[in-house]
Amino acid sequence: MHADVLVIGTGIAGLSYAVRLAKMSPDAKIIMISKRDLLESNTKYAQGGIAVVSNFIKDSYEDHVKDTMEASAYTSNENVVDFVVREGPARVKELIEWGAQFDTKGKKLHLGKEGGHSAERIVHYKDRSGLHIQNALIAKVRSFKNITFFENHSLVDLITDHHIPNSKKGRCYGAYVISKKDEEIVKITAQLTVLSTGGAGQVYVHTTNPTAATGDGLGAAYRAKVHIENLHFVQFHPTALFPKIDGNTFLITEAIRGAGSILRNLRGEAFMQHYDERLDLAPRDIVSRAIHAEMKKHNIRHVYLDATQIDTEKLKQEFPTILTNCLKVGIDISKDYIPVLPAAHYICGGIDVNEQSQSSLAGLYAIGECSHTGLHGANRLASNSLLEALVFAARAAKHSSEVLSKTELTSNFFNKIPNWKGTENVSNQKTERIRKLRVILQQIMSTNVGIIKTGKSLQQAEDELHKVYLSTMKLYQQNKLTPQLTTLRNLVSVAYLMIKQAQKYPKNKGVYFNKDYV
Ligand SMILES: Cc1cc2nc3c(=O)[nH]c(=O)nc-3n(C[C@H](O)[C@H](O)[C@H](O)COP(=O)(O)OP(=O)(O)OC[C@H]3O[C@@H](n4cnc5c(N)ncnc54)[C@H](O)[C@@H]3O)c2cc1C
Repeated sequence: MHADVLVIGTGIAGLSYAVRLAKMSPDAKIIMISKRDLLESNTKYAQGGIAVVSNFIKDSYEDHVKDTMEASAYTSNENVVDFVVREGPARVKELIEWGAQFDTKGKKLHLGKEGGHSAERIVHYKDRSGLHIQNALIAKVRSFKNITFFENHSLVDLITDHHIPNSKKGRCYGAYVISKKDEEIVKITAQLTVLSTGGAGQVYVHTTNPTAATGDGLGAAYRAKVHIENLHFVQFHPTALFPKIDGNTFLITEAIRGAGSILRNLRGEAFMQHYDERLDLAPRDIVSRAIHAEMKKHNIRHVYLDATQIDTEKLKQEFPTILTNCLKVGIDISKDYIPVLPAAHYICGGIDVNEQSQSSLAGLYAIGECSHTGLHGANRLASNSLLEALVFAARAAKHSSEVLSKTELTSNFFNKIPNWKGTENVSNQKTERIRKLRVILQQIMSTNVGIIKTGKSLQQAEDELHKVYLSTMKLYQQNKLTPQLTTLRNLVSVAYLMIKQAQKYPKNKGVYFNKDYV
């Protein structure tokens, strides 16, 4: 298969990129692939919404910039923060024009408040913002004839010079992709390739990310020697529901703390006053470490979030998903405290990109959570990631449209790119062994590379991960490639990079906390 542009991933980043590009370059052939169905993504689960300045009486671009810089402990790139914040309102307006719906108050957008924000500025749809955005974007992309989708197709590797005899152009030419159904590996060549593969929370036992968030784009980029930055800045969300629902960790949005709920220990005592003057609305890294400290101090597996003082009608109106999901595990949040614990939530780093979202490999863009733009630095401000995805996807689409009109790669060149060469051994796919290795990896990372690290714990993680790496490589060399094995290979790469980058980081900043430095 051949496309002008291959987009890998159909969350807010990939979809909004495709819509823009399809509008700007109606003759461009765009292929999109998605590991699961089009809907499944981190975007689908976003509850809070998009941080964007819209009330210019009570809020300002300068305040949003300041809050973002402060949350990141002044490690964000201020120039990037500035243009993202200023371009945000136009991107949200466009999203509404494309069919996304947000809650309103009178004629204006209803604005929520989240930790680290000095003003109410979260544009949202109840507590299901991501689902509504995702559905609107899917409907929009379906309206373009020049966009083709392949669901349940997973990236295996980016095609680079490494795969093409005597090629030294130093660029990306598309990707090898595996289909879930028949496990065939297909070659999709492209003038431009876009990674929009989202997060990697599945490196940990407790994560708010869905099972497909395994850092596949990061793994493939790493193998293609693309620059990757700041993977040691893993944001843990302070309040995920304990226990899991159907094996998944469910997020309790920060907006519910914005609405007045309070963290309490198992004795029912509020404890945030011992940790930060902003109390329950301190930035996530501070709240997560506070909960972690309480859990260690009292040797408990969770703390409580108390939403009982919030008016029941307000809970029903603004937090219907949380209400329903908690009821599934027998918790009525209008009467009961909610058991919560921190869970891996967002990778602040990723594939290093410039202001047009170009990676260090020519012909390859990275957008959304898999990228590192400089917006988040050492810690992401709540609800800045959907904003980042929209702004950088728009910039990348504009740039792609300009580049497409000048590309020189011929169909003759693309025809020379070989098909995937793998092992012929199809007898034993070792699914159970792969599953066990994935669990071991998650335990290694959660025990040693979690909210609080030490030099010793990082070394232990490196040593134990090496064994998982050796087992994975053996499976890779001796068995037919399956989607599960590709995923495991990527998880190992991402975990390795997280450990190595953490070992090199010399101080405590933002979400990075090493006890040895205290
Ligand atoms: C529970 C939860 C709540 C959140 N709440 C908010 C919020 O309120 N506000 C906010 O700003 N941010 C929030 N975030 C973060 C935000 O949702 C994500 O950062 C953002 O949605 C990422 O968008 P994306 O397009 O980069 O990736 P995603 O939406 O994760 O999409 C990734 C896409 O890549 C595909 N993919 C992955 N691997 C492969 C592969 N190997 N081959 C092919 N396709 C692949 C997936 O199938 C998917 O289509 C939340 C995250 C979670 C998990």
